[in-house]
Amino acid sequence: GVRHEPTNKIVLDLERLYDEASEDLAYVARYARAIQQQRGDYNGRVLSIRADDLRALAIVYDISPSGLIERLNEHGVLVADPRAFFAS
Ligand code: C2E
Ligand code: C2E
Ligand code: C2E
Repeated sequence: GVRHEPTNKIVLDLERLYDEASEDLAYVARYARAIQQQRGDYNGRVLSIRADDLRALAIVYDISPSGLIERLNEHGVLVADPRAFFAS
């Protein structure tokens, strides 16, 4: 059968990200909007992003990728399990 591995996919809660007034996440929000445009993915409440793009963003913030993940978590803009997210 299908084995469900815990994914380490980075999934952003777009509503929270775009509502977040804090300057801190301005670049992440701008980047997410650009990715939505490139994909033509406008109607989603969440957005899965590339690990490569997270690394690039971490450089912008001058922190490690895991440091950026931590920061995103602190702001509550990461979705741990998108399927559970939609079930709730
Ligand atoms: P591309 O990188 O040449 O990818 C072409 C298509 O392959 C994408 O069309 C998508 O259908 C698929 N694809 C590529 N990588 C992945 C992946 O990791 N997962 C999935 N599920 N599909 C993948 P799409 O989505 O319309 O994107 C068009 C172009 O927009 C991409 O061409 C790329 O140049 C850019 N793009 C889209 N999303 C991202 C992103 O998250 N980061 C970056 N750096 N570029 C992106
Ligand atoms: P998942 O990755 O756990 O995603 C669950 C749901 O979150 C998706 O349901 C979708 O509604 C939403 N979601 C996640 N990432 C994005 C995103 O970047 N944009 C938007 N608009 N919504 C997103 P959905 O579409 O019914 O997909 C169910 C499952 O099917 C996904 O679970 C995943 O396991 C698989 N899947 C769907 N599309 C792709 C894909 O392009 N690549 C891969 N590898 N799997 C996919
Ligand atoms: P995913 O679709 O489940 O893809 C998981 C991983 O498989 C990606 O991690 C990437 O390493 C690899 N992969 C999948 N499709 C392609 C492809 O067409 N070309 C290449 N070179 N690698 C591929 P990654 O890059 O960290 O992306 C994480 C998630 O972000 C993807 O999960 C997908 O949900 C989303 N994503 C990334 N790039 C695109 C894109 O261009 N278009 C769309 N629609 N979604 C993307």
